[in-house]
Parts: sequence; structure tokens; C-alpha cells
Amino acid sequence: MNVLVTGGAGFIGVNFLHYLLKKTTYDVTVIDYLTYASHPKEIKRLISNPRFRFFKGNVAVKEDIEVVMDREYEALIHFAAESHVDKSIQNADNFIDANIVGTYQLLKQLSKGFVKKMIHISTDEVYGSLNLGDQPFMEISPLSPNNPYSATKASSDLLVQAYYETFRLPLITTRCSNNFGPFQHVEKFIPTIVYNAFHNRKIPLYGDGMQIRDWLFVEDHCAAIALILERGKNGEVYNIGGGNEKTNIDVLMEILNMMGKSQNLVEYVRDRKGHDRRYAINSSKLQNELGWKQEFQFEEALKKTVQWYTNIFKGKFL
Ligand code: NAD
Repeated sequence: MNVLVTGGAGFIGVNFLHYLLKKTTYDVTVIDYLTYASHPKEIKRLISNPRFRFFKGNVAVKEDIEVVMDREYEALIHFAAESHVDKSIQNADNFIDANIVGTYQLLKQLSKGFVKKMIHISTDEVYGSLNLGDQPFMEISPLSPNNPYSATKASSDLLVQAYYETFRLPLITTRCSNNFGPFQHVEKFIPTIVYNAFHNRKIPLYGDGMQIRDWLFVEDHCAAIALILERGKNGEVYNIGGGNEKTNIDVLMEILNMMGKSQNLVEYVRDRKGHDRRYAINSSKLQNELGWKQEFQFEEALKKTVQWYTNIFKGKFL
């Protein structure tokens, strides 16, 4: 099977490449624009694998996508996106381009028949925010994004839905909760905590720290995507969630404990604008219809993750 992966040099993308090259026999082609959030060194390491090809390109540019359409693909997994909410609040230009225009350009290529199936990787953030006591989001929950990042992801989800309804293209959407694990950019919550704690620096915590996120280890996300690739039904949306609802302050304290660091490092800072209060996701459709089961326990996976970043910061890269 020939598989095309967009955004394969990013956090989830790199983990997914390792997953595919280890656990399947698929040939993998990657297109990635190698933005600040990417891991070119990791791509260089993979290049020697005869099952792997890499192209630098912007998915929002038609000519860049055409370069990789030199063969037919059984599947396209679309991770490429600008992904940092804080950056989208400062300036959303790149988010509109990568997340909306990029998805639109891929949908246009799909219409030409180069790709037999596309899995559009979206996020639980498109559903907006829950109150305490609300039921977790279902696939049929309304889209109600509250920040520019999630608005661009919701826009791309709607384009995918429209292209399925209008043209019956082979499209599947996944909406996953917060991932954690190796290769996440240090701008994100968990790597920021480990980085600052490791260097005994203040760790910024937004607002009262009581925002709730539903955490999933990245390898469990990769396994879910691989399963959806094999058994998912066109036109469907699948939620992927960890069932690990934690407040930000609890995650922070757990990491400080693991690292043997003082709670005095925590510095409360003004809350992010439009900060969603709670995300929680119901993945029973994926479990019941496709048989997905989460493998990694939160605490164990968090320990493994903290250890991985600590090794990086010590200069012991892998
Ligand atoms: P990331 O920011 O770590 O990586 C994104 C990758 O996309 C980078 O390698 C970057 O170079 C590439 N890219 C950006 N713009 C591009 C463009 N125009 N053309 C080609 N490549 C481009 O993001 P991530 O955390 O790995 O997220 C991957 C996908 O998963 C995103 O679509 C995101 O919305 C979704 N998602 C992420 C999470 C999470 O917790 N990280 C949760 C649910 C869904």
C-alpha cells in the first residue's frame, strides 16, 4: 500500500511515520513545509529507509502538491496544519493558508483520483468548550470553535463534509483530544513544563489552571488512525479520546512531582483570550464500530514522556 502523509515532520506526524514504518509494510511518502514546528533531523534519519520518500512543499500551493502526485496512493493522511492556538491569536494568516486553503487544495487533487481515501486529521477543539457536568462531545455535537486555530480546523472539517456530500469523495474525518508524547514542540503545555522545570525556571500557568483537557498518548492516536485507515467508513467522523480528563494544574503538579521539583516554580499568568474551559470526548463509536482500545495508561505514558524530554534537554538525543 502506498500512503501519502502531509505534515509528517510535525509532532504527531513523526510519531505516525515511526508507527507505520515499524508496524506495517506500507510505502510512505511525506509532504511537509518544514515550518518551525517540524523535525527535519528526524526526517533525515528516516530517508535511508527504502520505503520512505520526503518532499518539502506547502499543501496550500497546488504546484507543490502536484509534485507528489507522481503515483497513485491508496490513502492520504492529512496532518499538515498550523497548530498553536496562541500563535493564531497573534496572527491567523498562516492558519487560514495551511489549514483551510491547504485542505481545499488536497480535496481538489482527490477529485482527480490520485488518492483512494483521505483521512482528515482534525481536533476536539472544533466542538468548543464544555461546562462541568456536560456530557463529552459526540461526533454529532455542533461545531462551535472559540479561537482562530479551532475556527480554521472547523472550516476545513466543513469543507471535507461538503466534498463528501457533493462529490462522494472517499473522505473520513477524525477528531482527537489533546495528545502528549515525544517530538511535541516546546511551545506546547507539557514540553513547556518539563523544559522550564528542568532549567529551574518559572513555569507559566494560564488563569486559575482549572482548565480541563482530555489527554491521549500520541501512540494511541497513531494506532487509532491506522485502524481507521484499514476499517473506517467513508463520510464518517470518528472521535478519538483518552478518557483522561485532567486540570492543567494537576498535570503540572504531577510532572513537578515526577521531576522532584518545587511547586514554587509555578507562575500564574493572565488567562489566554477565549480560553476553552473543558474538553472531553466520547470515543465509543470508534471503540464499538472499529474495535479501538487505548493501550497506554496516562501516568506511565506521562513518565515516559517526561523522561524523553529530560534526555533531550540533557543533550542525550535518543
Ligand atoms: P505540529 O504543529 O507539531 O506539526 C504540523 C506539521 O505540519 C509541521 O511539520 C509543519 O511543518 C507542517 N505544516 C504546517 N503548515 C504546512 C503547510 N502549509 N504545508 C505542508 N506542511 C505544513 O502539529 P501536530 O500537533 O503534529 O498536529 C498535527 C495535526 O493533528 C494537526 O492537523 C492538528 O490540528 C491535529 N491535532 C493535533 C492534536 C495535538 O494535541 N497536537 C490533537 C488533535 C488534532
